[in-house]
Formats: sequence, structure tokens, C-alpha cells
Amino acid sequence: SSGDPVVFVLFGATGDLAKRMVLPAFFTLAQQKLLPENYLLIGDSRSDRTDDDFRDHVKDVLTEFGPHPDEGPWDDFSSRLRFAGGGFTPDDPGQLVDVVNKAREELGGSDGAANVQLIHYLALPPSAFIETTQALGAHDLAKGTRVVYEKPFGTSPQGFKDLDKAVHQVLDEEQVYRIDHFLGKEATQNLHVVRFANRLIHSVWSAEHVASVQIDAPETLDIDDRAKFYDATGALLDMVVTHLFQVAAEVAMDPPASMAAADLQAAREEVIGCFRPLDPAEVVLGQYDGYTDVEGIEKDSTTDTFVAARLWVDNDRWRGVPFLLRTGKRMAESTQRVSLILKDPSDGPLADATPTMGDVLNFTLKGNGSVDIELIVKKPGAGTELVPTDASIVLADIPDGDPLPPYVRLIHDVLEGDRSLFTRPDGLAHTWEVIEPVLDDRPPVKPYEQGSWGPAEAAALAEPGRWLLGQ
Ligand code: NAP
Repeated sequence: SSGDPVVFVLFGATGDLAKRMVLPAFFTLAQQKLLPENYLLIGDSRSDRTDDDFRDHVKDVLTEFGPHPDEGPWDDFSSRLRFAGGGFTPDDPGQLVDVVNKAREELGGSDGAANVQLIHYLALPPSAFIETTQALGAHDLAKGTRVVYEKPFGTSPQGFKDLDKAVHQVLDEEQVYRIDHFLGKEATQNLHVVRFANRLIHSVWSAEHVASVQIDAPETLDIDDRAKFYDATGALLDMVVTHLFQVAAEVAMDPPASMAAADLQAAREEVIGCFRPLDPAEVVLGQYDGYTDVEGIEKDSTTDTFVAARLWVDNDRWRGVPFLLRTGKRMAESTQRVSLILKDPSDGPLADATPTMGDVLNFTLKGNGSVDIELIVKKPGAGTELVPTDASIVLADIPDGDPLPPYVRLIHDVLEGDRSLFTRPDGLAHTWEVIEPVLDDRPPVKPYEQGSWGPAEAAALAEPGRWLLGQ
């Protein structure tokens, strides 16, 4: 049950993601009293350090990335940290098995260790996923556990299949939690809540009323200190096949049988099966000027730092409605926004008079998130001039609400055993089929200016409409 003691093993505990996201999320959960009463957190690494060294590392990390140790129950949190060095492979468990057994005994008390829930979090390079999974099986650390996989779950169509096979040789699907942190965002969850809880919205959620959907995730950032990773990956693999497809599925899904985790997950992952494989002619790849001058980037790199694509969802609800996806580095603005652009009123007395291209429902995923409705109203005063307006619901301003950062939310869901915001292998398998035509017949990579909205060619993808942002 969710009250059981938990031993949480963090693989890659010394790495970048652990530092920026996982350890801060854990400490936030401790602060908010959202952790089980009894838990221990074991950091795993190929190198050796003592428990106290690890505590110092975690304290440094929290001091840099927050929440600051002084703001939370640091002494209690720190006392629950353990470290297991020496690596973890099928041939050699390093110190992990011993450290886990000790932790289980410590928490199991007089009831024995049986009711202790073991959770593994693989904050490792994807190249280490298969071997670590096999090691969990080989050293009897798999049974009854939950295992969290960071993205990407596979880095190629074949890589996905190999990983999926290796995972299911060791684990049942119910034990697997594949993270896509875009699904943990407050505003993303509102895609299904606002829709199913409000008839005003629910009734327009289809091709009958929606002209197009835009999922836009421009970034002003460059590739930061992850040049090698980024140059080998690119925007299509880093963002589209992962986050943007999952968000598109959140928009496109049919109503689930219930809001129960399995139903919600099934509805989202099943509609991915209706995504039509991308047509390379409907994909624009770009690379910002100066990318190949960045330290660590190959001089002749053709890696895409920008992608815009038109995706079609082949089912009755969405037939004929383009889903426009766009993301890139070094663009004019940083945001993450889902927009449903409604059709112009096709009849009625104001059909010809509307000043914009119809009403729009926006979900801003970035930060704490917001939901905005753009409507056309009468300009107050004499006459009947029409003006576009915007009503905004800022999620952080909702009384008594306390938006959780995605990693905090998702790790809490793992602790609760709730898989609704995690991805499923049938959906992921199809995402690779959807992008395969682009991998096989890659469009030329067009240059674009830093601080722009990407290559000019991307504008044509939105016609006869236009991209809402940047035009
Ligand atoms: P990282 O820093 O390169 O690696 C994390 C740690 O894994 C390393 O510090 C290393 O620790 C350990 N490790 C274990 N086996 C390894 C092996 N065979 N090769 C290399 N390192 C190994 O990676 P990361 O940036 O934290 O990313 C971890 C995961 O999160 C990846 O799947 C990544 O795609 C995902 N992710 C990262 C970010 C981000 O911003 N960093 C964002 C989203 C998703 P020891 O040397 O101590 O063993």
C-alpha cells in the first residue's frame, strides 16, 4: 500500500539529471510531507564514496538547484541517504545488493523486509538501460519493484525494440514507469481535465469545430553544456518523438472509460496508433547559424536544432485537422503552448465580420501553466465593432492550489503506484513508425537566424492558417 516503507535506488545519482531534477524533487516531496513515513534513498554509482560524501554532494546540489537545505527538513532527509558504489552490472552487483538488503532490514523492522517497496530510478545514459535492467534481474532486485526509465526509451526504432524486449524479460509491464516529464506538467493534465469537466470545451473537441491544433515549444536556449549528447540526437529525436507526440496524444485521445490510471493511459497511448507516419514533405528541419561553431559540435554537423511538422490523426474525431508541431533551439522566445484554433463561424450573422482567424483555446505548459481563451467580443461603446480578447486562468493563482513541478508530481505518482502519466510501449512503438519516413528520407536541414522563428519554409506548413506565435 502507499503507506509501506520505501527503498528508493537512484542510479546515476552523481549525474546531471539527478542533480537538476531528481534530488531536488525528492527534497521538495520531503518538505511537502509527501514521502512515506519510512523511506531510504540510495544513490548508486560506478565510483566509490561514503554515505557522508554523498550527503555532502546532495547538500551542494540542493544549495545550487533548490530547495535550499536550510528551507527544509535537511537533517532528517540527510539521515536517510545511503550510497552504493562499485557499479552494477549482470556480472558484478558492486555494493548495491548489500546496501539494499541492509536498508530493507532497517525499514522492515519486526514485520520483516517483505512489505518494503523497492523503487529503482534509472537516471542513466540510455546506453546503460539494458545492462542495468538485466543486472536487476540477475541480482534478484526486480521482483515486486517499480522501475523508472528516463527518456528516451530507445534512441532508434531498433533500439526501442531491443530495450522493450530486455525490459519485459525482467519486468512485468505494471512495474515499468517510463518518464515523459511533459505529461507531468500541470497544464498538460488540464488538457484532459478542462476538456472532460466542461461541456463548453468538451463539445467542440473534434474536427467539426477545430480548424487546427498547434503544439509549439520554441526555446531561446542553445544546447547548453550538453553538446555531445545534442549533436548525436537533434530536435526531432530529443523533442518530437518524445514530448510533442505525447502532448499531441493528450489532445487527440478519445474519452477514456474512466479517469482511472489504466484507462487514462490507455486512451492516450492508443490514439498514437492513429498518427499517420510523417510525410518528409511536411517536415522542415533547421539548424541555427553558428551551431557548428559551438564547442563540442562537429564542424560539418547536419544535426537539426529546429523541427516543424504537420501531423495527421487518422480517426473520425480528427480527420482533416492538421496538428502542427514546432520546436527549436535559439529561437525568438521560450514557451510551450498547445492551441486549439476553432473554425470561423461558418454561418450566422457575424460570419464575415470576425477580425481574426477564429477563437482559440490555449494551454501554456511552461512554468506553472495557464489556460487562456481567446474570444471575440463587442468593443464596449457606441457601434458594433468586434475586438479579440483574452481571458486567462493562471493555475498558480487558483486559491489553495500549489502547482507541483513535473518531476515532483511524477515521482510522487511512482511512490503511489499511479501510472496514468507514464507512457506505454504500444504507443512508443508507433511513435517510431511515425517518424521512420523522416529518418529514412531526411529533408535537407535549412539554416535559420538565431533569435528567429526558424527557417522561412516552416511558415508554409501552417497554411492556409499561420503559426500563432511569432507572426
Ligand atoms: P549523465 O550525467 O551523462 O549520466 C548520469 C550518470 O550515469 C553518470 O554521472 C554516471 O555516474 C552514470 N553511469 C552509469 N553507467 C554509465 C555508463 N555506462 N556510461 C556513462 N555513465 C554511466 O546523464 P544525465 O544528463 O544525468 O541523464 C540521465 C538520463 O536522463 C538520460 O536518460 C537522459 O536522456 C535523461 N534526461 C536528462 C536531462 C538533463 O537535463 N540532463 C533531461 C531530460 C532527460 P557514475 O560515473 O557515478 O557511475
